[in-house]
Amino acid sequence: MQTVAFWILLLVFVGAFAAQVARRVQLIAAAPGTIALDQLGARSSRFLLDVVLQRRTIRERPLAGLMHALVFWGFVAFGGYTLTEFLHGLGIVDLTETGWFHAYRIALTPFAIGVLTGILYLLVRRAIVRPVGLGTKVSLESVVIALFIATLMITFLLTFRLDEASMAGRVNWWVHAIVILVFMALIPASKHLHLVLSPITVFLKSPELGNLPNLDFEKEQVGLETVKDLGSKSALDAFTCVECGRCQVNCPAWGAGKELNPKTIILQTQAALLEGQRDRKLGEVYSEQVLWQCTTCGACENQCPVGIEHLPILIGSRRGLVSNGDAPDYLGAMYNNLERRSNIWGLGYDQRTKFIQSAALEIFDPAKHDVLVWLGCAGSFDADFQKSLRSLFAILRAKEVTFGVLSKERCNGDPAKRTGNEYMYQELANGNIEDLKAAAPKKILTSCPHCVKTIGNDYRKFGYEVEVVHTSVFVEELTRDARSAKASAERPNVTFHDPCYLGRYAGTVDEPRALITRFGGVISEPERNRDNPYCCGAGGGLLFADKEEEPGARISDVRFKQLQETGAATVVTACPFCSIMLKGAGASAQSDTQFVDLMTYVNGKLQPRA
Ligand code: SF4
Ligand code: SF4
Repeated sequence: MQTVAFWILLLVFVGAFAAQVARRVQLIAAAPGTIALDQLGARSSRFLLDVVLQRRTIRERPLAGLMHALVFWGFVAFGGYTLTEFLHGLGIVDLTETGWFHAYRIALTPFAIGVLTGILYLLVRRAIVRPVGLGTKVSLESVVIALFIATLMITFLLTFRLDEASMAGRVNWWVHAIVILVFMALIPASKHLHLVLSPITVFLKSPELGNLPNLDFEKEQVGLETVKDLGSKSALDAFTCVECGRCQVNCPAWGAGKELNPKTIILQTQAALLEGQRDRKLGEVYSEQVLWQCTTCGACENQCPVGIEHLPILIGSRRGLVSNGDAPDYLGAMYNNLERRSNIWGLGYDQRTKFIQSAALEIFDPAKHDVLVWLGCAGSFDADFQKSLRSLFAILRAKEVTFGVLSKERCNGDPAKRTGNEYMYQELANGNIEDLKAAAPKKILTSCPHCVKTIGNDYRKFGYEVEVVHTSVFVEELTRDARSAKASAERPNVTFHDPCYLGRYAGTVDEPRALITRFGGVISEPERNRDNPYCCGAGGGLLFADKEEEPGARISDVRFKQLQETGAATVVTACPFCSIMLKGAGASAQSDTQFVDLMTYVNGKLQPRA
């Protein structure tokens, strides 16, 4: 009788589970695009770290993350127990009297206590403490699921006190079994679907942060225009979101009070898919204004514990808008400059030539020079940044490194690519690749983290591979001999602003700090630093967008305040665009904070050659 009742309940609840899962699987399968499975080694190691060891969950929120990890590890440990009890309950096979099962049950006891502790902590946090990233409403579903999990652990622990054949023992067994079945039926329509999907999304997430495959114009690809254009990984991501809010609280646009919230983007995607809005324009689903607020800093993707990729959705939607001529006016002006003059300011290349002459630079010759120095738009045209490049040249000359530059450079294409103008990006990239192939450098040196990412990384998608090194990394290695530093009693207190494309994208966080301390500085670290910095506001081609008339505060003002709060009188930067944005914010605040590029800082303290 008991077996028959259990079979009926199992079929009802498994049926409910399967029907809801099938709907989501159907939506994911109907989405275009294939799921990449390259770089299996990198994917497997991330799976081990982020799923098995729960690295990302614990790193961002240590205590809450550890409590979550206890629940996760407990779930995994209980898998065999649940299966064995179900096989027994269904009358298939009874292994519950075996010796190994008794030992297994005893071994599960600490896991049960861990899960109970973890889930009660998370319940109190979600229902009473309510951190901002979790939203303003207490989710009833989360409370019910937490109570279910607690019930499962309590009923398990009671099996050690109750005789299974007694009435109390039987009631306890049924409560445990029914809670599992109801839990299973609730999972697909809730954020707890991440229990099933997150190991898959973490494995499928691109090993490259902010991965944006090139559009193939021969296949008439134009980017994402409507809901049905969203790729299969994006559809999978939409059903995996656990609504933890890590992406939200780390987003500089959201932090500055703008409308963009990366968590909302994922939940809006989920709703649009479930509601079958296949032909709805993505500019309406998310709002065009929101799509233009992303700086592509990568914080959302980098912090997400379940492998969700926001940038393919955000930049993909921008591509769709640009292909329909729906870019904001300031971008129209920038595209015009890029088209006519191949640089974002639209300045004449005679200015670059004058700089090359005044700095006595040679044109690169692989037989004569160790490295090619890539000037970039800022190095070619921004007088302030040229001072920093002159410092770099002085360091290279002092250390007898031979170098040259290209006679002509175009913008690397990053502002076009990340604002969705893929056609313009490919034009610029292909022109540069042709010139670089002709010059044949083995190593390119640049002070711009966006050039490191675009030339060193994104150009690989065209089959062009070259080593591109940021000057902080190169000069750090070059000046390791202690005699490089001038002896000085002065130990200035400085703060270092990690550029997103250097700290987060390239993982270069130690070298700039090693240089600052080697050359006498004492670093006061700001809030948000190293591989999780707060953006300056210029990323994603938004150099011309972070204006006072935009909604919310300027991202650069928020960042400048964080840097000011360190108490340091000097901010050291290592990106021309961070430098422009932060200097602007400093001027608006009428602050007397000094801004120094890393190369200028080092050159000022380098021991002159004897
Ligand atoms: S990339 Fe940065 S700015 Fe864009 S949504 Fe993510 S966190 Fe926000
Ligand atoms: S997208 Fe990722 S980080 Fe953001 S709320 Fe969802 S699970 Fe959390």
